Amino acid sequence: MPDHDTLIIEASQILTCPGGSEPRRRGSMSDIGLVEDGAIAIRAGKVEAVGSREGIGERFPDAERLDLSGHVLAPGLVDSHTHAVFGRYRLDEYEQRCRGVPYMEIARRGGGINASVRDLRQRSEAELVDLGRARLRRMMEHGTTTAEVKSGYGLTTEDELKMLRVVRTLAAEEWIDLVPTFLGAHAFPPEFRERRAEYLDLVVDEMIPAVAEEGLAVFCDVFMEPGVYTPEETRRVLEAAVTNGLVPRLHADEFESSGGAELAAEFDAASADHLGAISEPGIAALAGSRTVATLLPGTLLFLGKSYYPPARQLIDAGAAVALATDYNPGSSPTVNLQVVMSIACSQLGMVPAEAFVAVTANGAAALRLGDGRGTLEPGAPADVAAFGVPDYRLVPYLYGCNHCAAVWKRGVRVH
Ligand SMILES: [Zn+2]
Repeated sequence: MPDHDTLIIEASQILTCPGGSEPRRRGSMSDIGLVEDGAIAIRAGKVEAVGSREGIGERFPDAERLDLSGHVLAPGLVDSHTHAVFGRYRLDEYEQRCRGVPYMEIARRGGGINASVRDLRQRSEAELVDLGRARLRRMMEHGTTTAEVKSGYGLTTEDELKMLRVVRTLAAEEWIDLVPTFLGAHAFPPEFRERRAEYLDLVVDEMIPAVAEEGLAVFCDVFMEPGVYTPEETRRVLEAAVTNGLVPRLHADEFESSGGAELAAEFDAASADHLGAISEPGIAALAGSRTVATLLPGTLLFLGKSYYPPARQLIDAGAAVALATDYNPGSSPTVNLQVVMSIACSQLGMVPAEAFVAVTANGAAALRLGDGRGTLEPGAPADVAAFGVPDYRLVPYLYGCNHCAAVWKRGVRVH
């Protein structure tokens, strides 16, 4: 009698990424818990056991079996930084950038984030749900089973709430788990360009309390960068976030250092993201904190930059490093974490094992998930991505394509 409650998947390699929900640092960043020619048993939506084919077969003799020889099984990927709810793509701007116009210059001309703001304000919640649904399914087809999604293209109370309600609807209707972040401090909207303090009042006094009241976000983020939000403005937003029960995270030191990493560590932020221009004190601050350093090298590649965040230095100093897509219509229109891993290995000096930990266990730590997601340890949710290659190093090595062959979400095959 087959035991239909238990599924055994056999594979050439299984990456268990051991270590629970704690952020991985230094040597543990390359500990992927590799099981060669093994099997995983899944029951009631959770990982029941991982081990040799024979051992697992003997323990669950009546289980349904699936032979995925020639494949690698990994924890479902965790994309801890996305802007996946938006309207149209920004193709004119892309072409301008190809011709050499810098991103911040395009933003000053009214493009960039504010182009997406104008577009999103005109769209209904239902329309944004439809657009988001298709994009999240693409994300899952690439192996991502949990994603953070930020607001920040509304920049009015009504439109920010609209974006977060879209995330809530998609989280309820789609298989992928979504973690919502309020990012009202993503830019200054055009109507407030000369009245920055008034916009900040709106974020602090009206938006954050409204988001908290409706339970629409777990995190609060700020785009702290010279020309966007100053350290003082950022501090004000994060203090209001903490008062209202939202956990800080930060866009920090992307193009120029302005003490973003240090401020994130001071606020015990869940993560400090980008860090292309992080300073030495910033590296030390993250290494001495539980704030995860989330690197988004796809953004720098797509923007044509010739520098990358100092991943090697961060890891060697003891910071926990995660990798994410930054999926958005301006600076990083990819849903593919596998290609982000390739960039991390080729340009940031990370080894494939570290890149896998950075998109699984440390992605989960950057979202403080705390339930074993990002690992395939017994008791963790059975979020599994199968890649159609026999060695995990082939995932970043054979770069640019999608190796994800199948996905299980809480034990249910969804791709
Ligand atoms: Zn971002």
